[in-house]
Order: sequence, then C-alpha cells, then structure tokens
Amino acid sequence: MGKEEMRLTVSEAVRNREYQVWYQPQVDMGTGEIFGAEALVRWRHPQKGLLLPGNFIPALEKNGLMPLLDREVLRIVRRDAGEAKKAGIPAGPISVNLSTFCAGTKGLAGEEDLLFEITETAKEEEENREIWRFAKQLREEGFRIAMDDYGMGRSTLKMLCQVPFDILKLDRYFISRIGEEKGETILKSTIALAKDLGMEIVAEGLESREQIAFLLRHGCRLGQGYYYARPLEKDRYFQFRAEGKRLPEGRR
Ligand code: C2E
Ligand code: MG
Ligand code: MG
Ligand code: MG
Repeated sequence: MGKEEMRLTVSEAVRNREYQVWYQPQVDMGTGEIFGAEALVRWRHPQKGLLLPGNFIPALEKNGLMPLLDREVLRIVRRDAGEAKKAGIPAGPISVNLSTFCAGTKGLAGEEDLLFEITETAKEEEENREIWRFAKQLREEGFRIAMDDYGMGRSTLKMLCQVPFDILKLDRYFISRIGEEKGETILKSTIALAKDLGMEIVAEGLESREQIAFLLRHGCRLGQGYYYARPLEKDRYFQFRAEGKRLPEGRR
C-alpha cells in the first residue's frame, strides 16, 4: 500500500470510529489497589476483526501517519475521561502513548488527569531531538511524562539524561528476566538509578507472583501486567474503578 492510500485508510477508519482504546489497570503491588491505567489502541477492522497495535502501527510509523492516530487516541481518551468524571468515577491518571509530536495537548493539563508515555521513534539524531523538545514542552504544559520501555532500543540512558522524565517504565523484557542473576542485577541497579533521579517506577508485563515479590523486595511498588489484568474495555475498567476493586481478581 502506498503512502497516500494508507493515509486515506487511516482517515476513513477515524471517520468510521474503528479505532478503540482499551485500558490496562496499573496497580499498587503492595495493596492491589488500582491507581490508574494505560490507554492502548485497538483497531476494530471491518473485515479482519480486532487488531492489536503490532499489526498496524509499524506501517503507520513508516509512512509518517502516527500523528493522525495519536490525535484520534487522545480524542477518545478525553471523551472517556469526561464520561468518567461526569459519573463521579476516579478513572485517572490515564497514561497515553505518544509516538510523535501531537498537537492538541495545550490547556488540557489542568482539565484532565492524563500523562504521556514517550520513546524515541526516529533513527535520526535530529528527529530524536525533536522528541526531546516535545517531551519537555509537555512537561512545561504541566503534564507528567513517562519514559516507556526503558532499556530497550528506543529508550536510552542518553534520553534519560536529556529529558526530565517523572516516571520510568521498566520494560517487560527485564521483568521476564527475574529469576536470572544478570536480569536481577540490572533491575536492582535500574530501580536504584530511578530513585536517585527522583523518578517513580512502573513495571510492565507482570505475569507471576515471583516477579511481584522480587520487585516489592527491591522497592518497586507500581506495575501492570496480565497477572493483574489484561487491557480492558472502557466500561469494565470504569466499573473496577467505581467499585474500588483490588486486583488480582478473585485471588485475594
Ligand atoms: P507499550 O506501551 O509498552 O504497551 C504495553 C504492551 O504490553 C501492550 O501491548 C500490553 O497489552 C502488553 N502487555 C501488558 N501486560 C502484559 C503482560 O503481562 N504480558 C505480555 N506478554 N504483554 C503485556 P499492545 O496493546 O499490543 O501495545 C503494543 C505497543 O503499541 C505499546 O507498547 C505501544 O508502544 C504501542 N501503542 C499502543 N497503543 C498506542 C497508542 O495509542 N499510541 C501510540 N503511539 N502507540 C501505542
Ligand atoms: Mg506504553
Ligand atoms: Mg511500555
Ligand atoms: Mg513495552
């Protein structure tokens, strides 16, 4: 598919409201309380069914179309957050993934309980500087910002040095290495590093009790993963928050 054709496909999907946002609860591992959620896009494709980001984001990135998707996700999240507010449900803070400069955040900081997750997307040094500037701008607008997928290809120590992130998200890769000596050593010093930098830490991809016990032992209390909950449709997530539910469900 050529770039123009793809732009039309994305615009049409936006017009037809085919993109959806699901919410993965983020949990205080010490208490099981839900303190927020990560917004994750899905595409309800008319022929192919429900598609995960891995099936369509790479093509959008390659063709410079991520701003279209980011704007749509931000619109949906704001709509959902507004609905929760009206119903008196404490749905936030909601973490939104942003790939690129996305206009339309100005003035939202006071209004809505959002924060933004960022990684470097570009191979080019110059474009990455653009992302750093953007991240700093979000912070000046009053948002908290999280460095996503820390330690993986697009999330480097250099970026950590350049941008005043509030939150560091430990990538699932390192969580899956708990139980191995090297992986545990890297996690322990990364947690210590984040603390020394005054950052909060959120662990991704929690799948076992052993992983959770290790993280709690080493001073990381916040996380998300299938152990607690998969990404949920909006209504289910809101229901959890309305009930003040603790996770994991039925295991406490
Ligand atoms: P991410 O931001 O690192 O999001 C976490 C991914 O890990 C999600 O996949 C989530 O469903 C998955 N995950 C959560 N817990 C577990 C677990 O315990 N085990 C395993 N195996 N996986 C887990 P998803 O939804 O497929 O998203 C993939 C990536 O797509 C995201 O990675 C993010 O980089 C990107 N993405 C998702 N939604 C958006 C969006 O709205 N905008 C932008 N720009 N990027 C997005
Ligand atoms: Mg993320
Ligand atoms: Mg992540
Ligand atoms: Mg990740």
